[in-house]
Amino acid sequence: MTLPSQNSGQDVGAPGASLLWQDGALTGKLVVGNWKMNGLAQDAKLLVQALLAKGAKTAEDGQLGHHGQGQILNGVRMAICPPFTLLSQVRDWLAGGAIALGAQDCHAEPAGAFTGNISAAMLADAGCQLCILGHSERRQAGETSVQIAAKLAAAHHNRLLPILCIGETLAQRQAGETLAVLADQLTNSLPFTLTGGNPPLVIAYEPVWAIGTGLTATLDQIAEVHQFLRQQTVGLGHVPLLYGGSVKASNAAEIMALGDVDGVLVGGASLNAEEFWQIALAAKVALAGGGLSTAAA
Ligand code: PEP
Repeated sequence: MTLPSQNSGQDVGAPGASLLWQDGALTGKLVVGNWKMNGLAQDAKLLVQALLAKGAKTAEDGQLGHHGQGQILNGVRMAICPPFTLLSQVRDWLAGGAIALGAQDCHAEPAGAFTGNISAAMLADAGCQLCILGHSERRQAGETSVQIAAKLAAAHHNRLLPILCIGETLAQRQAGETLAVLADQLTNSLPFTLTGGNPPLVIAYEPVWAIGTGLTATLDQIAEVHQFLRQQTVGLGHVPLLYGGSVKASNAAEIMALGDVDGVLVGGASLNAEEFWQIALAAKVALAGGGLSTAAA
């Protein structure tokens, strides 16, 4: 068996995410589904097939973006992050289409005695193009920003596009600590400083109190945080900023119409093909509406 090494000769910092990151940038809106610990093969296949059918139908209707360029709709990129057990199957079901495959976590080490864990090299080998890191459900289980930074470095080493999640708890928001908490999570979860270079990175602002609760942050709250994150990351070039927290078809367009929101990270609603597809359509509506982020240029 060949054991992956951390420096396996691949370009550090350049993701293999051809469906997502082209010419050094991610353009348009990005809609990412986080299936969490949901999905058995049969239902997962139906869900993926339904999404692909919607994409194909849109192609027939002439609304389709450049599938070959990774856009499921004009200006809209889509990815799904199933549990580890389904990655290879979902990769095969998605083959040749415009939906990218991602994972929900990785281990920082390339290989070894880490029972139950999956390395970034394994994810790349399974066909992943991106990896969610630092999700609040993992931070709440004890994961630290320092550990997340190591995972992020491993993701880069394996040409995975990291989606770094940060977010405040309700208590922290009520105490007026939101921006300080986010700044702390951001700086400590990155294996590099916020002032140098342009590493491929996506940041998802996910207020903990809005995840899976049906509570969505107000547009003002989202706008304030995204503006803050835009300022914080200015030294990295344009870092796409996603919002996550009870996004659904009915609120997705107004959220993505905000100037600094480049897309959404969707949990529960991504398990329903029609709902998830409507969110992708909402991204297109938001793009068409003007007043959008520079990433849409
Ligand atoms: C998430 O899991 O990242 C998430 C945002 O979940 P939900 O959309 O269900 O709130």
